[in-house]
Amino acid sequence: MGRLSLYRKWRPQEFKDVAGQEHIISTLQNAIETGRVAHAYLFAGPRGTGKTTTARLLAKALNCVNGPTSSPCDECESCIAIREGRSLDVFEIDGASNRGIDEIRELRETVRFKATQGNYKVYIIDEVHMLTTEAFNALLKTLEEPPEHVIFVFATTEPQKIPATILSRCQRFTFRRIPSDVIVQRLTEISEKEGIQAEEGALRLLAETAQGGMRDAISLLDQSIAFSENIVTTTVVQDMLGLTDAQALNAFYQVLISKDLTKGLSLIKSASEEGKDLVHFMESAMQVARGLLVVKADKDAPLQSGEILLNITREESMELAAKFDSKYLVRIIETLAETIQKAKRTADPELFFELSLVKLTEEPVGTTQVDAAAIIEFNKKLEAQSKKIQELEQKIKEGRSLQVENSDINLFWEGLLQQLKSRKDTLEYWAFLNVAEPVALEGIDLYISFPDAYEFHRANVENPKNKSLIEQKLEELTGKALRLRIDESPKFKRDPNFLTKTQEVFGGKIIKPE
Ligand SMILES: [Zn+2]
Repeated sequence: MGRLSLYRKWRPQEFKDVAGQEHIISTLQNAIETGRVAHAYLFAGPRGTGKTTTARLLAKALNCVNGPTSSPCDECESCIAIREGRSLDVFEIDGASNRGIDEIRELRETVRFKATQGNYKVYIIDEVHMLTTEAFNALLKTLEEPPEHVIFVFATTEPQKIPATILSRCQRFTFRRIPSDVIVQRLTEISEKEGIQAEEGALRLLAETAQGGMRDAISLLDQSIAFSENIVTTTVVQDMLGLTDAQALNAFYQVLISKDLTKGLSLIKSASEEGKDLVHFMESAMQVARGLLVVKADKDAPLQSGEILLNITREESMELAAKFDSKYLVRIIETLAETIQKAKRTADPELFFELSLVKLTEEPVGTTQVDAAAIIEFNKKLEAQSKKIQELEQKIKEGRSLQVENSDINLFWEGLLQQLKSRKDTLEYWAFLNVAEPVALEGIDLYISFPDAYEFHRANVENPKNKSLIEQKLEELTGKALRLRIDESPKFKRDPNFLTKTQEVFGGKIIKPE
């Protein structure tokens, strides 16, 4: 067994350590102090924002030897048992893996017995929206007449999927995304206590990437440490996350200043040829615009992730910001956000990126110094693409079998990465695999390749122990025993049934491309 993950090690053991959810914590503490704890709580909110952690702390507060108390001692037998996940009075049920009615039936039987050690039995059902209707109905019977000593905490990322009959019996708390500043502060604390040197810029990038989820941020820190032999630098984090380098981003912003479309298109082309992830590129460019907007409004604002990405000082970023008016920066953000959404769903992000650049370099009035040849070239490409899409749509309408080009493996791969990224137990594989390029899927052989710059990622995935773990996860996700083929050539270059295969593996139905 490996060492304890940083996330587990630094999971808050006291209410005061739960970051960014002060509104919930103080309400709960107040309820405990005044003896007005509800029978059922619904903790709704994005992943990794402290829902189950808070549920465990509530259990501690109720069952502590000094309890019920708003500040459990974390030293008594009950507190320690809950901390170590072996308390007989706290039941954690994962709704995602226990969808069946059996678990809820069992719950209904055990719920009648008094708590063994403490005063309360606490049932924590995570991802409760995954339960089946039958299971919900069984649960409802218990909720209608809850025994005196029982508390339910339902945690969910999708409260809208929970039946109204259940909702109406719960006191509801909405967990917020945790602000980046708060995450950075926590990451700094953890690094200091672990004796790890980390640049502030590196931690900020991790926080931004985690998008308000503390658990993801800490897991990413854990991986960065593995990458960097105890000095976590901005460069290490950029490499690990596959972020775009400062030089290309700077060049992109120079293009926006000069409105030089020709230069811009060739920048995108070479970024693509160098194997850079264009969606990442656009995401980074969007962060830069956001940072410039903030700096424009407040020169003393905290360090912006855009500044880290560009690798510039505050003075330089103010100079750059002065070259854009705020309206234009907002337009950059809006245009890129829209483009990223579209590009993620296609095998050809390059085209969408180019299109957004055309929009961003258009002068509202007057003439532009755009090279006519570049526009003709671009229009040709656009035409070819829309023709291809029309053909596809036509075939779908006619119900004919699809002759999809090999490039559609991108859809499959993108789906796989999304799933890896969305689960806490597979996030680290995502970090390794997200820089790889899918080549083909043939039978059970999934061919992928790593660009030369990602030797470290390749080595990690090739490591036989990791490889078999990853393949195991892939099987869990897809239901198929897939074999990873790294940097090998597939036998066939084209797979006419690719889309159908993708559908077989992931389920769902084929929708029309954009
Ligand atoms: Zn205690």
